[in-house]
Amino acid sequence: MSLQLEVELNRRGLMFVLSSPSGAGKTTLSRRLLGRYNDAGAHENIVMSISVTTRPPRPGEVDGKDYFFVSSEKFRLMAEKNEFLEYAEVFEYQYGTPAAFVSQHIRGGTDVLFDIDWQGTRQLAEKSRDDLVSIFILPPSMEELERRLKARAQDSDQVVAKRMLKAEAEISHWQEYDYVIINQDLDQTLEKIDTILKAERLKRVRQEGLAEFIGILKT
Ligand code: 5GP
Repeated sequence: MSLQLEVELNRRGLMFVLSSPSGAGKTTLSRRLLGRYNDAGAHENIVMSISVTTRPPRPGEVDGKDYFFVSSEKFRLMAEKNEFLEYAEVFEYQYGTPAAFVSQHIRGGTDVLFDIDWQGTRQLAEKSRDDLVSIFILPPSMEELERRLKARAQDSDQVVAKRMLKAEAEISHWQEYDYVIINQDLDQTLEKIDTILKAERLKRVRQEGLAEFIGILKT
């Protein structure tokens, strides 16, 4: 049985960041997490923040779905106009998160999922610590990471070698994250991520109207 409450307990959306060296399984995990909430109502939903980048599209990538692909000039203009919540240079290209999409969803009580690096995560922490939940995904070993990068077959050997070097730098920031998960098994990792999301949604700071509810409880 569920009783009607006298106040509306809205929830503030959260910024859910998944970071990892590329090849650690983050893209698959993001897709599967989003899939779990596809049919959920606004307050149970989680949507992906689509970044803007100056990197050229990889085969199969779609503009407006994987990224918004823009020129360096356009990126610079967007940065100048303060249109990014955060932005950073990764692998010699620029990447940024459009601010308007995120604030609109957070205010409306919908969570936003981010696939951004440690530089972006740090900027979000500086701007909006209470709204941020960050998870770092580690590969089970560097050998496995290299194997996964090669299996992707989208990047040349040279690019894979560069990404391996970059992976070590990325991993060195693990202590800046709220949670760290070693991705040994995709299904188990997904469960862990979903558990974190569900628990974080219940946090006091995200329950708007709670003070009002307590006031009524006490009268
Ligand atoms: P990729 O080129 O493989 O799609 O992404 C390279 C790296 O850039 C990944 O580590 C990804 O998390 C990061 N990245 C993607 N979008 C953004 C963004 O908007 N901001 C930041 N700071 N990093 C991003």
